[in-house]
Amino acid sequence: MPADRAETIVLGAGIAGCALAFHLATRSHGPVVVFDPQTPGAGATGRAAGIVTEQLWDRWDVEVTRASKSEYAALAARWDPTAYSVNGFVRWTRRPEVADALARSVERLEGWGVRSRVLSVDELAARFPSGRFVGVVAATGCVDDAVVTPSAIAQIYAEGARANGVDFWLGRPLARFAPVGGEWELTCGGRMVRAPRAVVAAGAWSKRLLAGVGHPVPLAPYRTQAAILRPAPPAPADLPSAHDLDTDVYVRPEQNGRILAGDGTELVEVDPDTFRIGGDDAFVAHVAETFAERFPGWAEAELVRAWAGVCCSTPDRHPLVGPVPGAEGLYVIAGFNGFGVMRAGGAAGRLAAVLSSGDDDRELERLGPADPRRFAGPIAEFAPRPGFTLEGGDDPRF
Ligand SMILES: Cc1cc2nc3c(=O)[nH]c(=O)nc-3n(C[C@H](O)[C@H](O)[C@H](O)COP(=O)(O)OP(=O)(O)OC[C@H]3O[C@@H](n4cnc5c(N)ncnc54)[C@H](O)[C@@H]3O)c2cc1C
Repeated sequence: MPADRAETIVLGAGIAGCALAFHLATRSHGPVVVFDPQTPGAGATGRAAGIVTEQLWDRWDVEVTRASKSEYAALAARWDPTAYSVNGFVRWTRRPEVADALARSVERLEGWGVRSRVLSVDELAARFPSGRFVGVVAATGCVDDAVVTPSAIAQIYAEGARANGVDFWLGRPLARFAPVGGEWELTCGGRMVRAPRAVVAAGAWSKRLLAGVGHPVPLAPYRTQAAILRPAPPAPADLPSAHDLDTDVYVRPEQNGRILAGDGTELVEVDPDTFRIGGDDAFVAHVAETFAERFPGWAEAELVRAWAGVCCSTPDRHPLVGPVPGAEGLYVIAGFNGFGVMRAGGAAGRLAAVLSSGDDDRELERLGPADPRRFAGPIAEFAPRPGFTLEGGDDPRF
């Protein structure tokens, strides 16, 4: 079979793969082929809540997420204005030890230019007319945080990439992906493509793909859940997103007065091909209990649907974005620890700069704490431990 030629093959058309294809296509980069056995957004991207927050770990994370956010805002304004809105994001706790961590996080975030601040219980009550904040000892929020429709953003990236010449090979199983004669070769549906570089952007499937070519990286796929509820009366469209740090349940407003509630994160590894796709009764009951305590106005909300998706954790909770250690021409963008929607655009932009510059040192440096070369050496199994974190990253370089 004669092989097509490309400069880069991207494996995976979730928000990360589509954003990367878009960034490569809009730079002076050679031909790009994106392969996905399903369709754009069919993985975690099509199941995500879409909260985009700057209340993050370190300066690097904030900069990357800001880059995503401004790109999502611009793309949505042009192609689908319903796919992006700024609504703010608040967090609260009734536990004094968590309150201390929240206070420290505000100071840290201020240092990185994030407009986060302490909120009073009266302010919370004003923003959440359905809420009851008895016992809450601390709350913080950032007015600049946003929500997006992740599948719509992925689709916009894919269309932009396609319009700039990227070839999408979709909907057929992978026959083979392997190194051949110093290049990477991919075969599917009777077609073959070869390129000097390949990027694995296959979300929870990345672990198996990379191990299959003899270059394992430390990734642990795990299951997490969300549900859509319809309260009466409908929730206001400008409701901030919120995270109850005590029950770990978060909410965001959805169209038509509905609410998306999430968490139900499981700290065990799952197989992305065989995980349970529906929401668990225990997760729905946990959301109902949180609503009964914190949002009595929503306690009778109708459950529209509940589902699960598979995200991917790393040992240090930083993503993997950049060269795979010890593998010539092989790159990865995965392991977002449940924050992949908010980081994808910015991380893809940085990886595209590395690829387009031929691994220029300055561009590699901009991968910061996400550079996969931090895991050169033997790879050990580990349990996923993702989640919304209050602690700051402890690496002084970032
Ligand atoms: C319930 C839930 C809520 C979430 N909420 C948020 C949130 O509020 N904010 C946030 O930032 N993030 C959130 N996330 C996380 C976010 O969804 C992910 O981090 C992000 O979508 C990862 O994107 P991705 O492109 O890396 O992976 P995916 O979207 O999983 O895409 C991977 C793609 O790889 C493809 N693939 C599979 N096998 C192969 C193969 N062999 N070759 C090539 N391709 C292959 C799949 O078909 C899929 O299309 C949430 C996730 C879930 C499940």
